[in-house]
Order: sequence, then structure tokens, then C-alpha cells
Amino acid sequence: MPSLEEAQRVVLESVRPLGGETVPTPGALGRALAEDVAAPGDLPAFDNSAMDGYAVRAADAPAGATLPLSAYIPAGDAGSRVLPPATAAKILTGAPLPAGADAVVPVEVAEERGGTVTVIEAARPGANVRRRGEDVRAGEVVLRTGTAIGPPEISWLASSGRLAVRVVRRPRVAILSTGDELVAPGAALAPGQIHDSNGWALAAAATEAGAEAVPLGIARDDPAALRALLAEGLRSDALVTSAGVSAGDRDLVREVLGELGVTPVFWKVEMKPGRPTAFARRGETPVFSLPGNPVAALLAFEELVRPALLRMAGHRRVFRPAVAAILKDGVPRKPGRVTLVRVRLERRGGELTAWSAGRQDTGILRTLLDADGIAVVPGGEEDLAPGALVDVHVLRPLPGSLP
Ligand code: AMP
Ligand code: MG
Repeated sequence: MPSLEEAQRVVLESVRPLGGETVPTPGALGRALAEDVAAPGDLPAFDNSAMDGYAVRAADAPAGATLPLSAYIPAGDAGSRVLPPATAAKILTGAPLPAGADAVVPVEVAEERGGTVTVIEAARPGANVRRRGEDVRAGEVVLRTGTAIGPPEISWLASSGRLAVRVVRRPRVAILSTGDELVAPGAALAPGQIHDSNGWALAAAATEAGAEAVPLGIARDDPAALRALLAEGLRSDALVTSAGVSAGDRDLVREVLGELGVTPVFWKVEMKPGRPTAFARRGETPVFSLPGNPVAALLAFEELVRPALLRMAGHRRVFRPAVAAILKDGVPRKPGRVTLVRVRLERRGGELTAWSAGRQDTGILRTLLDADGIAVVPGGEEDLAPGALVDVHVLRPLPGSLP
């Protein structure tokens, strides 16, 4: 049985980025680049002023110098102006610097009066000037394959005139719930039945990971029903099932997947919750069989399925942000077994503190509702004492500092 770390490594080695597609740049948010993008030109494209002020030759502008104003240059000015020696040009932020000028004296440290300006603070060469190409040089690769596209990437693509970019296609992920006790959310419950929450939850988790969820509904614990739906699921880029993979005699998923030509990679992972998490593949298609318990299913998705979907979607970074935090609670342990503790995070001064978000029994969903993250407690001979430093995978924005 692999450790969680080994399982993550095996899963990530088994999946590859899917093919690319070209999308309009504004619609590329959240996707991963399928190409390196080089700068088509220098950025900025021309020397310009970083401030509202007066363009000068620094040598002409020691403190106390009074210079006649020879021009007014607003942003958008067509440029190609020359600054006559021993004069200043009134200039606005972003406007092209006139030839000859090498500094801008900000309005705050100058006094304009009757067509002249008096310099209060001496101009230094290069001060308040944005040089052509100081940000990016023409031809430089600025965004690499596998980069996640966020607002800064869109900003740069827009400024370099890229109307469309090549990104990796979103994986289509089939989601199948299994079990005779399940009925659709909202349907009336006969005695012993429960609502299928995993179907919606795992589809939401897949969507949040940037994938396209393909909901397949509920399969009865019956080989024929299961076979039909699993076969349909194998037509997607990935298949995620829940329940039916433990030792119970109604647990048929393993058997039917085998009949469909799916090769098992591992059947269990040394972690708690989520031990009965199986990973298998048919050709390039990864198949994840998650535990039925809703908390275990979501935690196993977080730690194993989400990184795989992000890698298939082309992302270089596939793990949640991890922070080191002081865990205020003790945790029972076993050698070799990782324990995933649902925690709340609190910032106190410079320190991040993690608290158990509630009862840690796998059956308690409320604890996941209250959790900011998952503390990953490594296995050990002895129980983890309160106050230990642990890694926490962050699920939600961190709470701010207390005033
Ligand atoms: P199993 O893995 O089939 O042994 O199921 C473990 C537990 O999870 C049982 O209490 C099931 O009733 C419950 N369960 C299984 N599938 C789902 C589902 N789709 N939604 C909510 N609970 C489920
Ligand atoms: Mg079952």
C-alpha cells in the first residue's frame, strides 16, 4: 500500500497534459498555457514619464534653477519632440519623453510661475523616467508553457497585442456514484436510503479544479448497471467513482473495472480518512475509485484527483498552497500512516495557528464545512503532541489578522 506521497507521485507520473486549443485572451483566465509566449516588442515601447512633472536635462536642473517651459506633453502625444537645452517641458505620466531629456522633476518638488518652472529638488539623471524595454525586451519569453493564466498574464498578453492564446484543453471528468442506498438529491427517502451527495460534491470539486464535470448519476450495486455506466465514464478524459471499493461483498467496482480492461495501479493509500482510494488506468484514461463516505471522498479528491486534473489541464503547479502552522491539538498516529486533520487557521502576530475544526470522525461533514485547510500529519510511533509544526494544505482564503 503506497504512502500518500508515493500515491501522489504515481498518479502524477501517470497523467499528461491534454492537447491544446486556441481561445480569446480574455477567456483564458484560469487555464494553463500550451505555448511559450515571447514579447513582440519592447515594453514600454518608448521612453516615457513615470510622474506628472517637468522633463529636463538633469545637468540643467540643480536645486534652485529656473527654466523656461518650452512644451506641454500630455499622455498620447505623438512624440518625436526635442527638448531645447536649458528649458523644461511640462509632461504628464505616460507621455513620451522628449529627445535630450533624461529626468523628470515631479510637480511636487517644482514651482511653476508665468511660463517658467523653478526646481526645488535637484533632478538626478534617469529619475522618474521609464526606459524603453526596461520591463520586457522584444523576443524575450515572458510566459512559459504550463503557466496558469491570471489577471497579470492577461494584462501582459493585452499589452503585447495577443488577442488569442493557445491553452491546454479542460479535462472532461465523468463522475459516478455507486450504491443501492442512494437516491438523487431532493428525492423522497425510503427507510435506509440516503441522498447522493458525492455526485454533486465531486462534480463541484472537479469544476473548481478547472475541469468539465460529466455527471453520470447513480449506479446500483449490480454488475450490469455498473458496467454500462463505467463504460460510458471511460469515454471521458478521466473517471471518478465513489463507494463500492472496500471489502464489503456488494463492492463491485473493482471487479467490473477489471472486466472493462482497466488496470489497477493501487487499491488503497496509507492515509486516514480516505484509505480505500483506488487508482487505475485504461490506456491514457485515469480512473479514481474514491471511498463512499462524503468526507473521505472529498479529502481523497483534494489530495489525489485534483492534482491529476490540474496536470491534465496543463498546469505546472498542481498542489494547493501549503503553509506551516502550529497544530494546537494532539493527533493519534500509526507508523507509516498519514492523518489528514481538518483544521481552522488563525493568524496571531506573525504566527499561523491550526485548530481542529471539530470532531475528526470521518462521518462528521460539519468539520469539513468549518475547515480552512487540511493538516497533513505524518505517521509516527507516538501520537503527535499538541504544539507541533505541521504542513497545512490551504482550502480557503486565510482569515485576516485580528486588529
Ligand atoms: P461504501 O464505500 O460503499 O462502503 O460507503 C461508505 C459510506 O458512504 C456509506 O455510509 C454510504 O452510505 C456512504 N455513501 C456512499 N456513496 C455515497 C454518496 N454518493 N453520497 C453520500 N454518501 C454516500
Ligand atoms: Mg456501498
